[in-house]
Order: sequence, then structure tokens, then C-alpha cells
Amino acid sequence: MNILVYTLDNKIYVNLTNRCTNNCIFCLRNDKNDVCGQELWLDNENYDIQDLIEQFEKIYAKTPSKEVIFCGYGEPMLKLEQLKALAEYIKSKYPDTKIRVNTNGHANFVYKRNVVPELKGLVDEFSVSLNGATKEEYNEYSQPKIENAYDEVKSFIKCCSNEGISVVATVVEGYKGQHLDLDSCKKIAGDLGAKFRVREWIVNGY
Ligand code: SF4
Repeated sequence: MNILVYTLDNKIYVNLTNRCTNNCIFCLRNDKNDVCGQELWLDNENYDIQDLIEQFEKIYAKTPSKEVIFCGYGEPMLKLEQLKALAEYIKSKYPDTKIRVNTNGHANFVYKRNVVPELKGLVDEFSVSLNGATKEEYNEYSQPKIENAYDEVKSFIKCCSNEGISVVATVVEGYKGQHLDLDSCKKIAGDLGAKFRVREWIVNGY
């Protein structure tokens, strides 16, 4: 079965795709098939919005979370239309729900336009993987499949803050004993108008 919506720590997560324009060295997908027993590899990605809404409602009935996070085993912004449709549905039916999108920040490159304004009022917060104080560091950690990915990520973060959408730049610290220049990462985040969050790397995630 395709698990498009799941829960973790009493919050609702949405798993829109298994595709990604990065291949991060610490990506959970490389090590395991599930998050807390929930198999997140999709059989296919041909679902429609009704499938998404049905799964969301089933989960929401059991766990009426005030927070919904688009995350999962892939880059959610690669399914922009589905993301927008479900966010619109949630915001109209459950307006108190906070929506966060965890993203690699490549969407504006992928769609060749600034998509952030389209998400104003739908997404309350973007959490963007900065993963490095330099292009070299970023490339080592994220192994991007697109050109100039680090600049794209920084530009995406700036687009979010320019739009007045809360944005957090994140880094994964301590991967297999490696360390980032956290002060520089924090300064870069601040200069782009973002908050900064360090996620300590833990073996096998969660
Ligand atoms: S951006 Fe996320 S889904 Fe994509 S490879 Fe990195 S950790 Fe995995």
C-alpha cells in the first residue's frame, strides 16, 4: 500500500514522492525502508488528490494534529501541485493547522520560476536544508543532481524570507564524526533572513 500520510510523535507527515534532486550521504532512505515501522517507499506515484485527502482524513480522525509536515522519503516540492492542493484543503477545513514543508530548496530551479509566492497563506514555515557553509561542503554532504545547487538553496531561502514566510535553514551536524563550521552556517542563515537549526546526526535517524 502507498503510505502518503503517516504520523510520528503525534504529528501528521505527508510523503508525496520518493524522488529527490539530492542524494545526501546521510539520507535515511539509504539505510532503511521505514520510519517507525511505516514503509515509505511508494509502489507508484500516480495517486490523485482524492487519495491524498482520504488518507489524510483517516489519519486526522485518529490523530487530529495541529501541525502537518510535508517530508517523507523524497523531496515534497517535486509534487508541487499535489502539495498545494492538499495544503489548500487542510487550510480551508482545518484553518488552525500549521503547515511546514521540509525541502532541499531546489524548487525554483526545477520549475524555472519563483514558486514561493504561490505558497503564501498555505505554507506557514519552510525548513530548508542548507547543509554547509560553502559550496564544497554542501556538495559533499548533499550530492546534488542539479547545477549550482548551493546558490539555488540560498536563493530559495531568501525568496521565502522576502515573501514573509517563516524559514529555517537547517544543517545536519556530526555525520560520522564530521563537523561543519556552524558559526558560518548560522551567519549565512541570518543574512538570508532565516532562523537556524542544527540537527544532530544520529545513526539510523529518529
Ligand atoms: S534532500 Fe532529503 S530526501 Fe533528498 S536525499 Fe537529502 S535527505 Fe534524502
